[in-house]
Amino acid sequence: MKYINSYLFAKKMDAMDTLSGFRNRFHIPPQQNGTPSIYLCGNSLGCQPRSVRRFMETELRDWEVLGVEGHFHAKNPWMPYHEFLTGSTARLVGAEKEEVVVMNSLTTNLHLLMISFYRPTTQKYKIVIESDAFPSDAYVVESQLRYHGYSPEAALIKIFPRKGETLIREEDIEALLEKEGESIAMLLMGGVNYYTGQLFNIKRVTAAAHQKEVIAGWDLAHAAGNVVLHLHDWDVDFAAWCSYKYLNAGPGSVSGCFIHQKHISNPEIPRFAGWWGYEKSSRFQMQHGFNPIPTAEGWQLSNAPVFSMAALRASMEIFDEAGMLALSEKSRNLTGYLEFLLQSLPDSLSVEIITPTNPEERGCQLSIRTLKNGKALHNHLTQYGVICDWREPDVIRIAPVPLYNTFLDVWQFARILANAAKLPEFQQ
Ligand SMILES: *Cc1c(COP(=O)(O)O)cnc(C)c1O
Repeated sequence: MKYINSYLFAKKMDAMDTLSGFRNRFHIPPQQNGTPSIYLCGNSLGCQPRSVRRFMETELRDWEVLGVEGHFHAKNPWMPYHEFLTGSTARLVGAEKEEVVVMNSLTTNLHLLMISFYRPTTQKYKIVIESDAFPSDAYVVESQLRYHGYSPEAALIKIFPRKGETLIREEDIEALLEKEGESIAMLLMGGVNYYTGQLFNIKRVTAAAHQKEVIAGWDLAHAAGNVVLHLHDWDVDFAAWCSYKYLNAGPGSVSGCFIHQKHISNPEIPRFAGWWGYEKSSRFQMQHGFNPIPTAEGWQLSNAPVFSMAALRASMEIFDEAGMLALSEKSRNLTGYLEFLLQSLPDSLSVEIITPTNPEERGCQLSIRTLKNGKALHNHLTQYGVICDWREPDVIRIAPVPLYNTFLDVWQFARILANAAKLPEFQQ
């Protein structure tokens, strides 16, 4: 694609974009003057689909008039409510329907999945994570190790970028597994790293783990709804993600879970159980002994959080209409445009992109490292209507989301950033 740094080019790209109509299906948070902000923070909290209100109102109304009867007689009965999300969730992550379930929140699910899949033995007990894993994931892994009687010092292997580099090389993960695989029980990594935006080759890393009989689990918080996934074909053991980032289901909304077909009906796998994982036809006989549903649903604990799922349904309907393949194609162009514009910024701004340049190794997010006055840059962006986030110590993360961001958003962002070169901080 040949990009041009101009308003007219950005407008032309938007006019040619077959997905441009989806923007109107979202509320874009307004600036103080009422015009839409340049919202580039969908990697942190997705915008609200306009249809969320209708989905929520249906449930509020059914609760109002039906009370407890809503479990069976609501328009969308609450008893099997999570099932309304199964098809779209399976399509989103490239899974069979029996491999996915929506439940709980992300960190909770990581714990539940580790209880099932981290089964250390005297020889094989170590866990591999990324050096800059999301804090919650690091706490999960460290506390699970302690729970099983290991110290993180002895049993946690952090995989670092090479000296002087920012990204982790897949060949280094392979080499580590090759060298220490006999003592490693599990690898748990972010599919797209939240900080650098690096997308790992999930298939390749999973295969390398399996070579050494290491369980491969993935946190897909920054991958689900951002990149095309084929979790079943890639033979991923388990994965979990949240739904409030790229999936636009609102703050704290419910998490998605994937458990590979080969594991779902294995009775040897331990789990922390709850009544909603019990075989559906006899669940209400309230018998002793646990007879799990032989799908990922067997990991459920509680009955469905209907309001959170109602919001997610509104969003998943949009994903089904747009399709991940089309979204991913637009995403490449949009992020490619952002990269192109960032490359022509004034040198005095001293910024560099740390996200991989290869489109195969990233989703829509670009992480910009600021070598000086980073906070001033971020304040300047905020002042001119850009919503994007700052990650200590020196990174601004920018995520143009193909469902609702435009080429014009990207162009305006880059222009505002370029104008920061006129700030006194940058005049020396
Ligand atoms: C956003 C995010 C989380 C958040 O976890 P919650 O349990 O939903 O609060 C965890 N891990 C990663 C990698 C994330 O990006």
